Amino acid sequence: MVEASKLWFERTCSECECNDLIHPWTYTCSDATKSMLLSCIRGSYKFYAIVYLIQILMRGKKLGKKEMLEQFKLYLKSGIFGLTVGSSFVTLNCIFRNLLFTKFTYYGAVLLPCTVSGLAIYFEPAHRRILVVNLFVNLVFEYWVRTLEMKGWLRRSPGRETLIFMLGSAIFFYLMRKERENQKRTPIFWFFSPPKVSKEIGEPMTGIDGRSSACPHKGTCMNYILKGTAQLFGVGCAMTMLRTIIPKLLTPAKAIRSLSLSHLKLGLFFGGYIGIYRLIVCLLCRTNGRDSALYAIPAGFLAGTAFRAAPSTPIALAPLTSTLQIFGSWAYQKGMIPESLPLVELLYCVCQGLLFHARVMHEDVCPRYIINLMHTVTSAKADEIQSAFIQKMLRSL
Ligand SMILES: [Zn+2]
Ligand SMILES: [Zn+2]
Repeated sequence: MVEASKLWFERTCSECECNDLIHPWTYTCSDATKSMLLSCIRGSYKFYAIVYLIQILMRGKKLGKKEMLEQFKLYLKSGIFGLTVGSSFVTLNCIFRNLLFTKFTYYGAVLLPCTVSGLAIYFEPAHRRILVVNLFVNLVFEYWVRTLEMKGWLRRSPGRETLIFMLGSAIFFYLMRKERENQKRTPIFWFFSPPKVSKEIGEPMTGIDGRSSACPHKGTCMNYILKGTAQLFGVGCAMTMLRTIIPKLLTPAKAIRSLSLSHLKLGLFFGGYIGIYRLIVCLLCRTNGRDSALYAIPAGFLAGTAFRAAPSTPIALAPLTSTLQIFGSWAYQKGMIPESLPLVELLYCVCQGLLFHARVMHEDVCPRYIINLMHTVTSAKADEIQSAFIQKMLRSL
């Protein structure tokens, strides 16, 4: 329904003034730039506060004072990245409209400025850039899958997505174990990173007591499996809490009443995922008396069944995206991609352009994450622009 076609856009919007289309809340461009900047400073630092909190939670380790300071510096830089991207949409459009093009075009209105503003990724430190690109490439895949679904070419279902996640996890865990041997590892943000393949050799054993000398961990197998399960179960629940309780903190009674068993789903997924993975690897080490990277394939595949507890399209695609990332980093190291080519940064620009274009022109198939992201980072200014745009669309029907 809220689909803006190229034909419609160029007929209705190309002659618009920029206050009509880009900054409906104020007439002058300089006012618009100023108010957008202020909104984005607030929004960006609020958004990254949550991102950094989740990252620290996922590590499952306490931070020292020095690490805290380090994280805070990164947080400040990430904030600059967010607010530059958010606020430059208005500024770039005003500049392009008034100085270069004199009218709006379908691709020139969102795709072009948002691709250009992607260059702000240079504010992020190099290792974080890779993580951000991974996220955005994954979102582009989600956008494509949703588009194909809308065209009737494929159908999503929890069962199918679980299968994709299982297959993806099998390959991805295998590659992650291979990658552990690599000196220049690419940064990967995943639920947990599997340990190095153990070189020790032991006698095959039965039962589940104790530990095989071939196991890639210390302590008993049972302890290793349960500890991981409990830890990630906790992380999953904590993330759900962040999402559901914090907005209701002002009414604690309501917040507690709103809790239900369904809030355990994410915990079950996270906990089950690591638990099953570790269980299978330990069992294989124990029966064979030696460890192998290949164990990650059945272990990752079966662990993927835990996804069924909390299915979601972006997570279903994530192991495949990260697999591509590992291949990409190997291609770099083997010299197949020239080192001077800023592939990561260019890829980010393209993905950002595509996704923000989708947000405005094809809202129905745009990943939820992007809609929420723009809402938060711009302190709802993006929604103001969007609703004025949709009003225009409805009026012209
Ligand atoms: Zn303007
Ligand atoms: Zn073990």
